[in-house]
Order: sequence, then structure tokens, then C-alpha cells
Amino acid sequence: MKKTCVECGESFHGRADKKYCSAHCRSVHNNRRNRDFNNFMRNINNILRKNRRILADLNPKGKTRLHRDKLLEQGFKFSYFTNEYVTKSGRVYRFCYDQGYIETENGYLTLVVRQEYVE
Ligand SMILES: [Zn+2]
Repeated sequence: MKKTCVECGESFHGRADKKYCSAHCRSVHNNRRNRDFNNFMRNINNILRKNRRILADLNPKGKTRLHRDKLLEQGFKFSYFTNEYVTKSGRVYRFCYDQGYIETENGYLTLVVRQEYVE
């Protein structure tokens, strides 16, 4: 069966499930895919670490009320967090590791530090 190598684009003869013309092409392809994924993970880990640091810096006393713009000014990304805690009344805390916040009203947040009740 005539196939095209997904790495180098050369045609080769092989079984239907063969994707590479050689072991070399397979290893080059897999290494690159791993590297891309590692970069992707590293970028997300960096965002989460930065978010955590921003929360910790703005909340030295363990509980602070402030406007969400304060976090945005520092580069906080609201779509990245490590876990959520929903209270019985349906209020949602979002955490970046041990540092978290809950939205109150008019764009205000209360910053908190991880408590016993958090899963
Ligand atoms: Zn190849």
C-alpha cells in the first residue's frame, strides 16, 4: 500500500496503519509533539503561578476586598484557576492553588486563603 510519511512527506510502501517511512521520522515526530505539549503545559503552569502570586501579593492578611480591575492591572487571567468551591448557597470560590476569591457585587471580589472546607 502506498502511503505518505506524516513527518517528511515522502511516499513509502507499508501497512495501512503505518504513518512513518522510518523509525527516524517516527522519533522526530514524537519528540516534536512532546515538546509542543510540554510548552503548552509550561505556559498554563506559568499563568496559574502568576495568578497565584498576584492573589497572594494583594492579600497579605488572608482576607481582602478589592475591585477586579486591581487584578487585571497586574495581568491576572480570570479564566485560569486550579479549582472551584461552591457553597451550599451556590456561591462560587475560585482558587489558584491556596489563594482564592469570590465575586461579590459591582465587580468587587473578596480574596481568601484556602480553608479547611475546600476539597
Ligand atoms: Zn519520513
